[in-house]
Amino acid sequence: MNRARLILLSGPALILTAFLAMISPFAGAHAQDKGTLDARPLPPLAHPDDLNNAARDVFGRKQAPIQMPPQVIGFYAKGCIAGAQPLPLNGATWQVMRLSRNRYYGHPELIALLERLSVKAQKAGWPGLLVGDMSQPRGGPMLTGHASHQVGLDADIWLTPMPNYQLSRTEREDMSAVMMVRPDRLDIDPRVWTPQHLNVIRAAATEPQVERIFVNAAIKKALCREAKGERSWLSKVRPMYGHDYHFHIRIKCPAGSTTCESQPPPPEGEGCSTDDLAYWFSDAVLHPRPPVTPPKPRPPITLAQMPPECRQIALAP
Ligand SMILES: [Zn+2]
Repeated sequence: MNRARLILLSGPALILTAFLAMISPFAGAHAQDKGTLDARPLPPLAHPDDLNNAARDVFGRKQAPIQMPPQVIGFYAKGCIAGAQPLPLNGATWQVMRLSRNRYYGHPELIALLERLSVKAQKAGWPGLLVGDMSQPRGGPMLTGHASHQVGLDADIWLTPMPNYQLSRTEREDMSAVMMVRPDRLDIDPRVWTPQHLNVIRAAATEPQVERIFVNAAIKKALCREAKGERSWLSKVRPMYGHDYHFHIRIKCPAGSTTCESQPPPPEGEGCSTDDLAYWFSDAVLHPRPPVTPPKPRPPITLAQMPPECRQIALAP
């Protein structure tokens, strides 16, 4: 039925949509008022309905979700979402960071998971979640950062405990997360790593809905060394580039979603052996040498290359 509703957007409605997008590319801009110190909307696209536009330029300008039953379309790294919801900016056990990015949207199942997890983590000794990037209001590719986070099923959680007061708007933009990796990149930094860091990651990884967790390899190594008792959750925790300050939660496709493209489950086993981690601690990864000839930057994916439903979601007012 969700799909049927989307298809209804084609034909005359789509033409109207494209027209509205031309005269008012920032329709729905009020959503950003709730969190921006210095609201500076991007300049409108010259031809907002042109399917040859980079998808990130179109999705990156959308300030509000599509109001309809939630529907995930496509893959974590190539897709979009209708009916996304914002994570409330403040909860008793979480606070949203970097509000100016407007990336605190997700599928209702992700919102519910984060709320539940924040309580569970607090019981495990972690004061509360500082939530970084989730998805844009309609998902899709972003103008900066992240290949994934496109379908409302990914969330970055700072590896910095929540302070015991409500952060100001300025602090949410300016405060830095803590670097968890030792300067030689071979292990965590023992000056900042605590047992509660393991607790919050384990609390996330033991949620059945969670598909994968991404962390820096040094953090994975520390988890492997320190996890006591039941350890099967370690298989979900995968080393990844760029997760020195935060960990990344990815949940499964919502049950019954036919347009959400799922990912094979992670390989079995804890992923803790020297062999498992060898690649991440190889010289090539720890000390990457710049290539002799820099590779040509790949052209960004266009709206035409996105799943058809995502084109409609991007073009709707
Ligand atoms: Zn991430």
